[in-house]
Amino acid sequence: MGMPLTGMTLKNLFRKPATKMYPLQAPQYSSRSKGHVTNIIEDCILCGICEKRCPTHAITVDKAAESWTIDNFNCIQCLSCVRACPKKCLVMEPEYTKAATSKSTQTVTKPALSEAEQAAKAAREQEKQERIAAALAKKAAKQVAEADTANE
Ligand code: SF4
Ligand code: SF4
Repeated sequence: MGMPLTGMTLKNLFRKPATKMYPLQAPQYSSRSKGHVTNIIEDCILCGICEKRCPTHAITVDKAAESWTIDNFNCIQCLSCVRACPKKCLVMEPEYTKAATSKSTQTVTKPALSEAEQAAKAAREQEKQERIAAALAKKAAKQVAEADTANE
């Protein structure tokens, strides 16, 4: 029993250390590591589905401020938000959240629209309102016609 142990000890004396000099030596993450969630905010429609699906309430969506916030210290890397996002703009990055002495959140805000984009958005909204008004008018006319038929 003594000999194999001595051999092992001697071998390990001349081997490279198994541990890394973290943080001096940057860690290598596998591409499948579940590190932290990020949002490609340009594609996000602020629908709030990710916020509702998150079991630890790590995500906050603020429609008025057009912002998306995550508390990576509350995230348990379950991927529910990534799977549920209808725009596929949430990404599980392989790097782990850096250790810190206090919790913090990360917020991303939708970039300001150019004048042309604002005009296009306003035109889309007006078109939408007109479609809704037309549908309501059609429904009301149908109800009046049905009431007239019933009274005959
Ligand atoms: S589910 Fe996707 S599109 Fe909806 S708010 Fe979350 S990140 Fe944005
Ligand atoms: S991965 Fe899971 S815990 Fe983390 S933010 Fe998404 S839904 Fe929440």
